[in-house]
Amino acid sequence: MKTVTSIRQMQNVATELKLKRKTIAFVPTMGYLHEGHLSLIRLAKMRADVVVASLFINPTQFAPHEDLARYPRDKKGDLAKLKKLGVDFAFVPNAKDMYPEGFQTLVEVREASLSLCGNTRPGHFQGVATVVLKLFHIVTPDVAIFGKKDYQQWLVLKAMARDLNLRVNIMGAPIVREKDGLAMSSRNAYLLGKDREIALCLPRGLKAAVAACRAKSGLTAAEIRAAFMREIPLTERVVLDYFECVDANTLKPLTEHVKQRTLLAAALFVGTTRLIDNAVV
Ligand code: AMP
Repeated sequence: MKTVTSIRQMQNVATELKLKRKTIAFVPTMGYLHEGHLSLIRLAKMRADVVVASLFINPTQFAPHEDLARYPRDKKGDLAKLKKLGVDFAFVPNAKDMYPEGFQTLVEVREASLSLCGNTRPGHFQGVATVVLKLFHIVTPDVAIFGKKDYQQWLVLKAMARDLNLRVNIMGAPIVREKDGLAMSSRNAYLLGKDREIALCLPRGLKAAVAACRAKSGLTAAEIRAAFMREIPLTERVVLDYFECVDANTLKPLTEHVKQRTLLAAALFVGTTRLIDNAVV
């Protein structure tokens, strides 16, 4: 595996690969890799001749009050994991090169960014779309793989690729969970002591909401929400950011009853840790 830090060098590598008619699969990450990330790498290996993974904690997708400064980092461990899986190129740019002085261009994907996380984290998806478009121009992938744990992010990036005529296939991959059901996340490292156990109410709530949908057809969003909330022990430490039932393709709120392909999406604070999870019914 080659580790590339320079943007120009990564672009040169990509150009050479294109000349050799090699296809490129790309997995962007913010590092502190876990099995969820690694599942994307395994898929990438099956999809193209060459796999590029990036490690970059993107400052523009964090609001000033969010956890950019304390976001977990383990570059050495991450590179070892990528190498072990047979990644060809690890792209590890630095923030000064990605956002040099005078940087002023932002990508806004309008509708898909409005609800759910876009509603409670204004500007977040602008930061995501901007960095991913930059990475796409640098890496020039044929296919890019994103986890459906960040379901809305996947839809936002699919809309961006379609609207801007990008020649990249945006693939979504299933959520990878811990044995006890918690969706894997780099932020799970923040869950110390009892918080780890408390966090399980999120997948439990979603499971209960899914079970309610399956047990009785034609439930309303309010009934599904009630099934979810029964599992959530709201306290000073456990604060719901949102729970929504939306169309799984458009993210428009469910009107009246559950239809086919409804996304149940939730974000929950356990202490200062913000967790997200979802299920499609
Ligand atoms: P992040 O490093 O959190 O920005 O995530 C990088 C990529 O890994 C994104 O496409 C995420 O959706 C994906 N990802 C993160 N956690 C999981 C998970 N538990 N299962 C599947 N994909 C995941």
